[in-house]
Amino acid sequence: MSLAVCPGSFDPITNGHLSVIKRAAKLFDEVIVVVMVNYKKPHGCFTVEERVSLITKCVEDIPNVKVDAYGGLLADYTKMKKADAVIKGLRAVSDFEVEFQQALINKKLNPDVETVFVTAGAEYMYLSSSVVKQVCELGGDVSEFIPEIIYNDVVNRIKERMTNQ
Ligand code: ADP
Repeated sequence: MSLAVCPGSFDPITNGHLSVIKRAAKLFDEVIVVVMVNYKKPHGCFTVEERVSLITKCVEDIPNVKVDAYGGLLADYTKMKKADAVIKGLRAVSDFEVEFQQALINKKLNPDVETVFVTAGAEYMYLSSSVVKQVCELGGDVSEFIPEIIYNDVVNRIKERMTNQ
């Protein structure tokens, strides 16, 4: 059984993330999407529990995908799960430098795991969670950027956060 881990902040999950997850699910027997709790950005827009729940709704119909959260090192998580690969999505050359460095460090920390880079669909090249939040906060339409099944949850949460600020 091959196992891949898809790590990220997913604050919130976008169609770009989902496209990467679907590709991973075709390449590996099992995929775990893991919300990494970033100690540098402890307060995202969505709580970790909310992010896990949003992702879970989006992958409900993909039987070999599970969702989890982790607050430590990705290398320790991959060791614990005995994963074969880490899947990272690349948008543009700008992603490459950071991802390349992370892949090399992760390889050093856990030599048993390979980092596999995939692209999302070309239509999502420009998409990030930050773009979704910014457009939504300024009243723009984000329906093309996030899965339909979580559209209301995401928009309501971002608006609620705006009014409480
Ligand atoms: P974001 O930059 O949107 O906050 P995350 O930290 O949640 O993203 O990203 C998790 C992974 O998903 C990273 O490998 C990131 O490069 C990838 N990713 C995010 N959005 C896209 C996209 N639109 N196309 C390809 N990969 C993406």
